[in-house]
Amino acid sequence: MAYDDQNIFARILRGELPAIKIYEDDQVLAFMDIMPQADGHALVIPKTPAISLLDLPADAAAYTIQIVQKIAKAIETGLDAKGIVLMQLSGTAAGQTVPHVHFHLIPSSVHELGRHAAQMGDQEKIKVLAEKIKAAL
Ligand code: 5GP
Repeated sequence: MAYDDQNIFARILRGELPAIKIYEDDQVLAFMDIMPQADGHALVIPKTPAISLLDLPADAAAYTIQIVQKIAKAIETGLDAKGIVLMQLSGTAAGQTVPHVHFHLIPSSVHELGRHAAQMGDQEKIKVLAEKIKAAL
């Protein structure tokens, strides 16, 4: 399957759609999930156009996981998270709904997790959580 450059995350990367951003550099963007599974649910995406982890070049994967760790630490500190679930879905059969590779960071316990991408979050509340994470970076 070819990479679709009209997917939502490609459009966020190009600035065509808004996002509540928490971190950006030349290779990676981190932003808040619009339909969070738990308060503080964030997404980390490489800027490399790849559909899933399986077709992401290894060097981009290696760099992205470093930023995943950085954001996870900021979530732990900024939101006083007791646990963080790292989720990465590759392929529609696995539940992937946006065809640009991304890592979910969900401050929660696996036992408390609801369904993902199920219900729109309160965007003002999400902005407050994003500021707390950014302050801890
Ligand atoms: P996936 O199902 O592909 O692993 O996860 C995609 C995630 O992207 C879901 O958790 C969903 O809530 C989130 N999402 C979908 N559309 C948007 C959007 O337009 N903006 C943001 N910030 N998140 C989105």
